[in-house]
Amino acid sequence: MPANAQDILEQTFGYPAFRDEQAQIIDCAIQGQDTVVLMPTGGGKSICYQIPALVREGMGIVVSPLIALMQDQVSALQQLGIKAAFLNSSLNEAQKRDVAQQMQAGELEILYIAPERLAMQGSLDWLMQFKISMIAIDEAHCVSQWGHDFRQDYLSLNRLKTAFPDVPRMALTATATARSKQDIIHNLELNDPKIFISSFDRPNIHYSVASKQEANQQLEQFLTRHENASGIVYCLSRKKVDATAIWLKDRGHKALPYHAGLDKETRSVNQARFLREDAIIMVATVAFGMGIDKPDVRFVAHMDLPSSMEAYYQETGRAGRDGEPAEAWMVYGLQDVVQRSQMVDRSTADEQHKRSERSKLEALLGWCETTGCRRQGLLNYFGETLDEPCGNCDTCQNPPKTWDATEASRKLLSCVYRTEQRFGAIHIIDVLQGKDTAKVRQHGHDKISTYGIGNELIQAQWRSVVRQLIVQGYIFSDAEQFGALRLTESSQSLLKGELEILLREDVNDTKPTRESRSKIRINREDMPLWNALRACRKTLADEHGIAPYMVFHDTTLLEILEEEPMSDDEFLSISGVGEAKLEKFGAAFMEVLEENL
Ligand code: ADP
Ligand code: ZN
Repeated sequence: MPANAQDILEQTFGYPAFRDEQAQIIDCAIQGQDTVVLMPTGGGKSICYQIPALVREGMGIVVSPLIALMQDQVSALQQLGIKAAFLNSSLNEAQKRDVAQQMQAGELEILYIAPERLAMQGSLDWLMQFKISMIAIDEAHCVSQWGHDFRQDYLSLNRLKTAFPDVPRMALTATATARSKQDIIHNLELNDPKIFISSFDRPNIHYSVASKQEANQQLEQFLTRHENASGIVYCLSRKKVDATAIWLKDRGHKALPYHAGLDKETRSVNQARFLREDAIIMVATVAFGMGIDKPDVRFVAHMDLPSSMEAYYQETGRAGRDGEPAEAWMVYGLQDVVQRSQMVDRSTADEQHKRSERSKLEALLGWCETTGCRRQGLLNYFGETLDEPCGNCDTCQNPPKTWDATEASRKLLSCVYRTEQRFGAIHIIDVLQGKDTAKVRQHGHDKISTYGIGNELIQAQWRSVVRQLIVQGYIFSDAEQFGALRLTESSQSLLKGELEILLREDVNDTKPTRESRSKIRINREDMPLWNALRACRKTLADEHGIAPYMVFHDTTLLEILEEEPMSDDEFLSISGVGEAKLEKFGAAFMEVLEENL
């Protein structure tokens, strides 16, 4: 094994150059310094610790919270010719002994280990007999009690400090909040760490938000842009996950459900299929996704509003880790606003926590309704600036139209007032539109002055007005009054005619203007070769019992298609081909190229 970082990058990983700050991060760790690495998903965190682990003397330890994924991470390393193994509760005694033996023999280069195992003093004592090169703590935000992924076992990882005082530790996460950064440094007791913060921009992701009408149909329309692609569809509830998965299956899509209500076996089978098969659509609650490092997820669709910008960024971040075009798509409507607000109001958390949840939700709602560039808004939220609008989001490509909603808003507010702030949006809109319903008659609302004054807008438009007035703080949906709309203080100036108000026209379809932006484009005449290369990849993957992307990522396969390497040297010059992969897979692909000449 070469002992120099650049050589390992080229010969083992097959990449010509480090990205962004990778070289500095790796250098720091090789020098023995503690580091904190905040980098977006797909940024290339893994080699930041894998390379120092190989360069420094001894075995590298990687703490990772998801035992289901360790197997995959370890197989991917083994494909590169790196001696890696994992220790977690999924191994039987004989397998554990086997790993221990490799360690005793000094053969292991990288060991993945679950936090609950390190939390046991016994395991630490045992590990202390080995020479350790470095310790990486992945998904380090799990140590923060404020985040949504908190894990008790992460708190005891501070013991690594006393157990391995001379071993550099690296904490890595894709969660960007200041709070989690502080908690990581403090709770892990890192020694004056050097902190690396990458830009959180994901330029290959196309962001869009459409107004929710017939959500299932909208989803199906969206999926026509992603035939034969893997993707994740997020729903808020388990019930909706099940229903949506069935709905998609009935329409011929390869959709699988994933949520905490399914038994463990089904969950792990579905997850494994998502990782290994082509073109699976995973319909899931947020229980799915942390640490999924499948590089070729082409889209993340939200059928319901996430809880915050942080959650949205994390969930959509699972798309396009390979840097190829990907889409983050969401449908969102009045019901989402009401539902999420009520979830915050009804939560049993203390007042301070609730206030923070509420302001997080408000930030996300404001972003949904923005007329500015989505990427600028997103980055801004995380404290970064992007000088120019991105040109690759729905608002950049189809600038939303606005309309003067002063009159309509005033009608709505007075109708809320006349009905004594005791009714939800549906009834208020019925009254405005002069509908003859039992509820209208029962309350005598056909006799009030706002009855039937709102026929210039259809129901969907009124819902849009209600939604945007809630988001802008002119009305709110009162959880204690079963979602009744109520006026706020700022509604007074609107009612009195002191304000004019512009609202966004809803958009139901958010298609990227340039299709190529969200799809890997293959020329028609290249299709037969492309399919042959993919078939070859699938056969090799099945032979080795690994996922196709562990043979080669799409980006590597594309380069093979374009460059048509015909010798070992040419094949090695493809990005993503190192020596081990050349030896294992090179001949098979070159044969395919020859046959298709
Ligand atoms: P993260 O863990 O930050 O989400 P990964 O470590 O999985 O990201 O890397 C994302 C993708 O980028 C992987 O496909 C990886 O092989 C690739 N990658 C990382 N570093 C480089 C590099 N220097 N050159 C080319 N590709 C890279
Ligand atoms: Zn934009």
